[in-house]
Amino acid sequence: VDDAGVVTYKKKPTSELMQAIQLGIGQSIGGLSSKPERDVLMQDFAVVEVVFFPSEGSNLTPAHHCSDFRFKTYAPIAFRYFRDLFGIQPEDFMLSLCDEPLSELSNPGASGSIFYTTHDDEFIIKTVQHKEADFLQKLLPGYFLNISQNKRTLLPKFYGLYCYQCGGKNIRFVVMNNLLPSTVKLHEKYDLKGSTYKRKASKHERAKSVPTRKDLDFLELHSEGLMLERDTYEALIKTLQRDCRVLESFKIMDFSLLVGVYNLDQAAKEKSKSQAQSASSETSTGGPDPTFNSSDAKPVRGMSLSRGKSFKTRIGQYSTPMESIQANSDIADKLDDEDVPPGGIPAKNIRGERLLLYLGIIDILQSYRLKKRLEHTMKAMVIDGDTISVHRPSFYAQRFMSFMATQVFKKVPTALKHSPSKKK
Ligand code: ATP
Ligand code: CA
Ligand code: CA
Repeated sequence: VDDAGVVTYKKKPTSELMQAIQLGIGQSIGGLSSKPERDVLMQDFAVVEVVFFPSEGSNLTPAHHCSDFRFKTYAPIAFRYFRDLFGIQPEDFMLSLCDEPLSELSNPGASGSIFYTTHDDEFIIKTVQHKEADFLQKLLPGYFLNISQNKRTLLPKFYGLYCYQCGGKNIRFVVMNNLLPSTVKLHEKYDLKGSTYKRKASKHERAKSVPTRKDLDFLELHSEGLMLERDTYEALIKTLQRDCRVLESFKIMDFSLLVGVYNLDQAAKEKSKSQAQSASSETSTGGPDPTFNSSDAKPVRGMSLSRGKSFKTRIGQYSTPMESIQANSDIADKLDDEDVPPGGIPAKNIRGERLLLYLGIIDILQSYRLKKRLEHTMKAMVIDGDTISVHRPSFYAQRFMSFMATQVFKKVPTALKHSPSKKK
């Protein structure tokens, strides 16, 4: 936020950035339609397309109210193939990204990146550093190879890499899958690395209605872990292991597992409570209860889950957590609650409450080779090397994996008895 109270990124008002992003992506995807579909060739990964957007418009671009800018699309053909692999049609991609304003997320990370979500909650836009964009470019061929061989993965799905250029500034960003639909009131969120060094949510973060908590918070709140049916547990761990091997092979570290927890039993309680409240309140006209309509924009209870259309047709249509780990579960099939997006991984907490987990690996654009060497030698001298977050990639992956397989997720010996969800 600058002196005039305007939200900025690299001294650019973010509203202008958002408009430019939408214009740029719209033009880029539209322009691709004239290029015939074909297999991806090695040289496609190195292509960078640049289009100039003068405010008065041009034969390629519409007129706009921002400053003149340039918009770069990295590896357009390669990313088109990639989107296609995940069943994302160009029209749908454009509708999601360009048709309605994006919303800005407050980022609990320390890097200062900006995050936007599309209005339909399907995609996330994250600004990345120069080095991260370079790294993704170099990573693309190998990454594509992996994803083509194995679509069942919890690795982030990158759908585009772009750069907005204006007044000598470069703002690079990626478009990726949104793991946590913001219209669903998740009860808990965790960003887990398997490290315990300083892995606690800040006071500022904890003050939010649904903070993103970290490893130490998880151990405190779920000392017994999250309990999964045996088959589901094995599918999840196997997927994570495979993904970790890929990350390690690219010398990637500092990634996290993002876990969103939706507590079905708690949600049911909240719902009946808010129904009882609105029934007994004379002033209520069926609208949101004003007492819950506080300024921190937390979802209004009981209202957050019913915005007309069913989630089944709106969210996670590209790949759900259950699909990503290639698991099936009777429990998941029995849950036809239209309040929650499909494909959450069924689990229970120690109190026996029924949970649905939404998860995926995030923040994978840090390569040890590029940047961490110095940091590692320096920190290793002062802090016990076993618990610091910055470590050799293989150690990082191993520690990550063992934390997930033993502390975060637990296998329950017998099938979880989820009672079928109540019909409304
Ligand atoms: P740092 O490098 O300081 O860890 P960062 O700016 O690189 O932070 P990330 O670690 O990628 O940011 O993400 C920060 C937070 O943003 C995550 O903890 C999570 O809450 C949210 N987030 C990131 N990626 C996604 C995603 N694909 N879907 C949903 N939420 C996400
Ligand atoms: Ca991170
Ligand atoms: Ca990061």
